[in-house]
Amino acid sequence: MRLLLTGGAGFIGSHTSLLLLQRGYDVIIYDSFVNSSYKVINVIKSYLDSDGIDYKLKTIKGDIRDKSSLEKIFKDSIKEGNAIQAVIHFAGLKSVAESVKYPLKYWDVNVCGTKNLLEIMKDNECYSIVFSSSATIYGLTNAVPISEDQTVSPMNPYGKTKVAIENMLCDLFKSNMNLWKICSLRYFNPVGAHPSGLMGEDPIGIPSNLFPYITQVAIRRINLLKVFGDNWNTEDGSGVRDYIHIMDLSEGHIDAIGFLKSKKSIYESINLGSGKGYSVFQIIREFELSTGCEIPFLIEGRRDGDVAEYYADISKAERLLGWSPKRSLKQICIDGWNWQRNNPEGYT
Ligand code: NAD
Ligand code: UDP
Repeated sequence: MRLLLTGGAGFIGSHTSLLLLQRGYDVIIYDSFVNSSYKVINVIKSYLDSDGIDYKLKTIKGDIRDKSSLEKIFKDSIKEGNAIQAVIHFAGLKSVAESVKYPLKYWDVNVCGTKNLLEIMKDNECYSIVFSSSATIYGLTNAVPISEDQTVSPMNPYGKTKVAIENMLCDLFKSNMNLWKICSLRYFNPVGAHPSGLMGEDPIGIPSNLFPYITQVAIRRINLLKVFGDNWNTEDGSGVRDYIHIMDLSEGHIDAIGFLKSKKSIYESINLGSGKGYSVFQIIREFELSTGCEIPFLIEGRRDGDVAEYYADISKAERLLGWSPKRSLKQICIDGWNWQRNNPEGYT
């Protein structure tokens, strides 16, 4: 089965690409490389080569806003007699802070880019798509665990583009309910790395998320961690989030593709998280215990727009996809540290 992975060279896309190739899927990665390195493609290839796996991978550099380039990929696949049967749509911009500064850029890439992709899919009779949505769309919620039927109320332009795309997908589904198979995966906090230590998260500049920040403190690229508030209404006063191992998350995409394949038509939004909440202090402690690295930290004021506690109700993913996360927080810390230690400068 041939799949198109937009943004397939990014953090989540690269791990998912490798898993799909290992399981015999034919993969086309389409990525502009604005937030990823071509080196990850070579890592994927050499990993598969060293395992003696025969794989089918094409990598094409391009932007999802470039209609003719996207169109060519679909048409060429049809000419080859190997049409693209489904798309996993990872491509997009994902920084909350940047989206506040440059909202039009986010609407253009995320929303207009997705509209382009959907038009091309429709024109070429490819009706299956798994979309990378985000838990950020739930906004300031007090009700944990968060289930999919909670009202969405995004707090920033990034989250608003994700809601707009979900709405666009839903409208498209309703326009022809016998045709489209759509699954929107709402990720919580993807962290950790491939167990080989060869692939992981490689943020540009200083990381804004907790986990890559901690691994960079561990490697001493950064002196200390700033903990954003110890006076939240949580058990130890620090913020609580749902951290999901990147390998568990990647497996969720394979299950989502299988789910779509088994349906005549469908539209679903599904949370992917660990279903557990861990505080910042718990993460620091577990990281120190699992890796032996000391993480010096300092308590700072709360970060703008933060919430106390956020974790997923994952019963829908378990029920519909037959998916559940398998890896522990300890595994997340060990794999994340292994990647950072082997690649102190990331892919560069
Ligand atoms: P990432 O930045 O590592 O990957 C995104 C990929 O898309 C990158 O390789 C980038 O080069 C590519 N890209 C960006 N704009 C493009 C364009 N116009 N055309 C083609 N390619 C383009 O991010 P990620 O963490 O792998 O996230 C993947 C998706 O999941 C994103 O849509 C993101 O919004 C969503 N998501 C991520 C998280 C997270 O914490 N990592 C959480 C929730 C949702
Ligand atoms: N956090 C922190 N210091 C940092 C980065 C994050 O204390 O340098 C806290 C943040 O306030 C939140 C948790 O760690 O409680 C997770 O933050 P992250 O940005 O990783 O995820 P998000 O808040 O977007 O879910």
